[in-house]
Amino acid sequence: MAARTDTPMSDLYYDTHAHFEGAPLETAAVLGRAFASGVTRLVAVGGSAALNAGALAAAQAYPERVRLALGFDRDQATAAAPEVYVETLRRLAAAHPLAAVGEAGLDFHYHPETAEAQAALFAAQLRLADEWRLPVIVHTREADEATLRVLDGTPWRGEGLRGVIHCYTGDKAFAAQLLGRQFAISFSGIVTFRNADMLRESAAYVPSDRLLIETDTPFLAPVPKRGQRNEPAFVAHVAECLAQVRGTTAEHIAEITRENAVRLFG
Ligand SMILES: [Zn+2]
Repeated sequence: MAARTDTPMSDLYYDTHAHFEGAPLETAAVLGRAFASGVTRLVAVGGSAALNAGALAAAQAYPERVRLALGFDRDQATAAAPEVYVETLRRLAAAHPLAAVGEAGLDFHYHPETAEAQAALFAAQLRLADEWRLPVIVHTREADEATLRVLDGTPWRGEGLRGVIHCYTGDKAFAAQLLGRQFAISFSGIVTFRNADMLRESAAYVPSDRLLIETDTPFLAPVPKRGQRNEPAFVAHVAECLAQVRGTTAEHIAEITRENAVRLFG
């Protein structure tokens, strides 16, 4: 079992989910620390006009290391019709190569009352990703059955993986449902939290070829950085936790999650 250290070795980690909303200088500092600590690649993920702009700026500043995902999340669902968002994505994607669509998906924890609008926006982006043959970065919280319903109700002609369920917080049974629908599952700093035993069971259960790691920067910093502003440099702590749960080394987790991420996002 790998020892827990203050400065974990983190060669070649691939953080599959980070948001950048701050000033360019701040983003540059965060990314500089990530690269210096061995996070050699990451996906800059959109979700709103501001998050899309931040992700785009990060990807343009470091095109060889930062992959770009653009999309509209559940909080945007009632501000405009899905077609309006799809048009925006078409315009953005025409100018900037995308590695994925997202994040998109459902969250009934905060806004159960907008469930229908959330599902419509999610489905529209699934159709767009299918058209573009790109993976989808999916958020799902307290919406297990609705998520499966939208996935099953939306055509998908791709081969390989359909995308990733990011920042996974569900149980083994839901994970099995998602794996059966050709999704990878990504674990964030939440898996390191003291009360996350159910989630660690899920982390032990996901097969090696479907496992990804992420920070969800700037949210949800992992133990022992909990309470700080999160950044990609901390992804090593997620890998260390998965290594303990799965009885392997952080280096091995780094290697398999990197390979999986390269397959999905390039
Ligand atoms: Zn996110």
